[in-house]
Amino acid sequence: MAYMGPNPTDVNQTIAEVGIARAIGSHHVASLLFTYRCTIACGHCLFACSPTLPDVCCELDEAVDWLGQLLSTNRVVHIAGGEAMIAWDRLLAVCRAASAAGAMPHFIESNASWATSDVLVRERLTLLRDLGLRGMLYSADPYHQAFVPPERRLRAYTIAVEVFGAQNVIAADLTLPQLEELREIGRDEQRLADYTRSHPPNLVGRAGDSLAAHFPDRPLDELAGDRLWHGEHSQRHCQIEFDPRRMWEIHIDPYGNLQTCCGIVLGNLRRRSLADLMGNGFDDSAVLRAVRDDGPFALLALAESHGYQRRPGYKQKCHLCWEVRRHLRTYYPEQLGPDEVYGEPSSTPPSSR
Ligand code: SF4
Ligand code: SF4
Repeated sequence: MAYMGPNPTDVNQTIAEVGIARAIGSHHVASLLFTYRCTIACGHCLFACSPTLPDVCCELDEAVDWLGQLLSTNRVVHIAGGEAMIAWDRLLAVCRAASAAGAMPHFIESNASWATSDVLVRERLTLLRDLGLRGMLYSADPYHQAFVPPERRLRAYTIAVEVFGAQNVIAADLTLPQLEELREIGRDEQRLADYTRSHPPNLVGRAGDSLAAHFPDRPLDELAGDRLWHGEHSQRHCQIEFDPRRMWEIHIDPYGNLQTCCGIVLGNLRRRSLADLMGNGFDDSAVLRAVRDDGPFALLALAESHGYQRRPGYKQKCHLCWEVRRHLRTYYPEQLGPDEVYGEPSSTPPSSR
């Protein structure tokens, strides 16, 4: 199939041979964003997730259908968020139904905030493993650890290794003192600012709003060669993030939006299948054509035609993209959404919500 991921070997065979962490490198990833709600609100969150967002999760039947479609891409498939564990009963129901339908994802991504006791973690992970889950991903950095107690992250990691094997746990193996150090950095404004400058995130979503001030403005002609989503350096265009075979990650959210680059909607699974979208072309739209073929520079021109006033400089190429997307989403609500990612409702409610 034209939209299969970059590695033709069966992804399950690769996982069995080298584990999930290494399989991701060659197969790339595809995820179901189970909910935008999260137990915490990290400053660098590209999807702007938080505890205050609406309690919307993927519906059971759609979740199972979409997981099956994601698995057909031969990528490593996971459930992410937000924090999927925030709605454990609904998540478990989806996993039970997915397991019965042969559509179990390979792993679940989590911030480990739910890991309040050994008994709870062992019970949940064993249950998920017995349904066919192959592993877990746990984040760890100053942004997460500012909120998540170090012992929870350590517990979640240790028991996941016990249940799934180290090769299937995508997470840094950090000691309690190392996690406590990350927490101290995350809770110290100056140290966190230094950390942010030395580990620049893509300035999109909440990162685009809350961390941009740590970086200098740069003129437009300096931005074209900035790195893209996963380390590739660009010219002006962003074609790699719109190429079904090469794009690093594909996301389907609870509204059925198929996304790239957190908040750029390529189509909707309630209207077209993933195979159709990825095999026959994403939805045709001026905003998608512009950013694919000439990057955010074309988006800037489009935004100016809709009254946007350009600034003397932007922090990075993806920051320019974020700034003009926020202006353009009023005019292209179906391609630039949903509200959760942009932090505010568009003036015209997206029909895909
Ligand atoms: S980065 Fe992850 S853990 Fe942090 S707010 Fe976003 S979804 Fe939640
Ligand atoms: S500039 Fe925009 S489209 Fe291009 S990689 Fe960055 S976020 Fe994605």
